[in-house]
Amino acid sequence: MNAIEVPTGNGHSFSENVDRLVDKAMAVLNIDPALAQTIKACQSVLQIRFPVKIHGEVEIFTGWRAIHSEHMLPSKGGIRFATFVNQDEVEALAALMTYKCALADVPFGGAKGGLVIDPTKYEEDDLRKIVSHFTRHMAAKGFIHPATNVPAPDMGAGPREMAWMADAYRHLFPEDINSQACVTGKPVDQGGIEGRTEATGRGVQYALQEFFRHTDDVRKAGLREGGLSQQQIVIQGLGNVGYHAAKFLTEDDRATLVAIVERDGALVNTEGIDVEKVHKHMQVSGGVHGYPDATYVENSAHVLEMDCDILILAAMENQITTGNAERIRARLIVEGANGPITFDAETMLKKQGTVILPDLYINAGGVVVSYFEWTKNLAHMRFGKMGRRFMQARADSAIEILEQAMGDRFPETIKQGVIKEADELNLVRSGLEDTMCEAYQEIRAIWHARDDVPDLRTAAYILAIDRVGHYYTEYAL
Ligand code: GLU
Repeated sequence: MNAIEVPTGNGHSFSENVDRLVDKAMAVLNIDPALAQTIKACQSVLQIRFPVKIHGEVEIFTGWRAIHSEHMLPSKGGIRFATFVNQDEVEALAALMTYKCALADVPFGGAKGGLVIDPTKYEEDDLRKIVSHFTRHMAAKGFIHPATNVPAPDMGAGPREMAWMADAYRHLFPEDINSQACVTGKPVDQGGIEGRTEATGRGVQYALQEFFRHTDDVRKAGLREGGLSQQQIVIQGLGNVGYHAAKFLTEDDRATLVAIVERDGALVNTEGIDVEKVHKHMQVSGGVHGYPDATYVENSAHVLEMDCDILILAAMENQITTGNAERIRARLIVEGANGPITFDAETMLKKQGTVILPDLYINAGGVVVSYFEWTKNLAHMRFGKMGRRFMQARADSAIEILEQAMGDRFPETIKQGVIKEADELNLVRSGLEDTMCEAYQEIRAIWHARDDVPDLRTAAYILAIDRVGHYYTEYAL
């Protein structure tokens, strides 16, 4: 069996699995049943079936946009382009967006979209036509709008698709001065923001760096001390999230990547795998097979079970089930994807003492930077544009005054650190790092403070549910 094709969750649908995780946290919070129902309910779902003429033939496409919560507007979340997308999955992912935004303290409700399509089967012009039609249908029903419902990329989509959506929206509503903010994850020259493409992977890196700053947590997981450079990592999925996370963790933090699990098989090399080289190989050949500097394993499911310190699951939902949970040897599991561990599998992993950095926390980097992009679009101005020269001049003169007083010159490296530009990328990274570190500190505090909080996921849900619940009780019920 291939390790990235197990879309069933131990007899429970994806949204049931999410609800069971939420229930666990709600039980700890002892939340009022009516409030619990209010928080959990998916508020609205739009299903669209639309025809598109491709090479003279009419094809019917199916897509969804689910709004889980509108307690803060806009409702936010990506659109997935994949053949297996279904309404239950879209609703589950929309719910995760509600909790993710609340946890990261990003002022959005939760939404998600999906389009049933294999994007690799279409030429670029046809794909553009399909995406534009889908956008027009969503816009006609009010399911895409800068103030109320803002999509972003998810599996199978990227900046190009977001640019097409923004373009379709602008043609429908040219008088909307904020039309650019109708979608995030756009190319930088089309109203996007520096650092958005790699944001989820970068967020995974910042979160892991923060985790390793807390030696109690490292010990609790049974990991080697000495930081990320001492860890052996297995990663599943070298898509946008997996590729960037693996790249940053190996290049910046010097962790060793010992295996990559992909659709067409896995690569193993205990000496370390060069992510960039594999990525280039995959771009040319479409898979990992044939990559020269590692052992190729066709039955990739077993590679998830190999000896390692950290297992990063960056492919899709339901990858660790009761069928393989017992055989997982990683001490720390990182949910780069949404919902990769089923509820029942998690119970088994907990018995083994495995620590899990849960999806709603660890992959929040994308929506955090989407928030920066959205505010930039509403401001109609690039971050740092007005203040950059002023700040630089101020730093220059402060250094000059200090050098004169000391009668000596600072080394160039120190000077560069002080006058480091407040450009967009630096600001985005600083905001993202701050958010990931702060959220970890908040959830670990709950995890450690209460005996009835068994893990980081329950702690994360407690924090998120508390924030959403506060809104409903104070302002809506
Ligand atoms: N699709 C991403 C997620 O699942 C990003 C969502 C967004 O930026 O709105 O978190």
